[in-house]
Amino acid sequence: MIVAIDGPAGSGKTTIAKLLSKKLNISYLDTGATYRALTLKALDEGIDLKDALHLTRLAAGLNLKFKGQKTYLDDKDVSEKIRTPLIDKNISIIVAYPEVREVMVALQRRIAKGGDFVVEGRDITTVVFPNAEFKFYLDADSTIRAERRFNELKAKGIKIGFKEMEKDLNKRDDADKKREVGALTLSKDATYIDTSKMAIEEVINEMLKYIRKGKK
Ligand code: C5P
Repeated sequence: MIVAIDGPAGSGKTTIAKLLSKKLNISYLDTGATYRALTLKALDEGIDLKDALHLTRLAAGLNLKFKGQKTYLDDKDVSEKIRTPLIDKNISIIVAYPEVREVMVALQRRIAKGGDFVVEGRDITTVVFPNAEFKFYLDADSTIRAERRFNELKAKGIKIGFKEMEKDLNKRDDADKKREVGALTLSKDATYIDTSKMAIEEVINEMLKYIRKGKK
């Protein structure tokens, strides 16, 4: 069974996908982490971000593993390192290359192959798992999304001005919605949930209602 979740940054996707997978007792895949790890590797190796061919080769050879909720790149725990403003600033250019996405989508499908997964990202309901048993699109008001992301970074001790971060977030969302391949769109058969005024538990319960209804 695949539960596919798409939505913009700060929509609550990651928190909700993790909790939902626990409630359903199935695995969890954060596809954003796969693109973040690739971005980290490209920056570490000093690769020219305009060089799509080099980045595609890098993606194809990526040594990436997920254990529990942690992300390992070349056997090192990079869970924190991939969620910094530096990665946020550089990721959009890399994820826009269709040839890079092709390799990454194949990797994501391989990870979830044959298993039961909650998978979250931007193109999960449309490209990665268009035949997923359950599809959701989580959204929230843009100011609320920026506040959530800001608090997340603050809790980790990462200092960044709210305005700068809000600008980066909006830029990233805009790029996600406008790119030619794998753009963030609301799939016709996905359930849309606006999480702006909802508590996490409420969102989870709403999703579980749909999932339980759909169970044979
Ligand atoms: O979900 P998260 O914010 O960690 O994703 C980081 C970035 O990776 C997003 O801004 C988006 O550009 C990209 N992404 C993507 N396709 C996915 C998941 C994430 O392009 N399936």
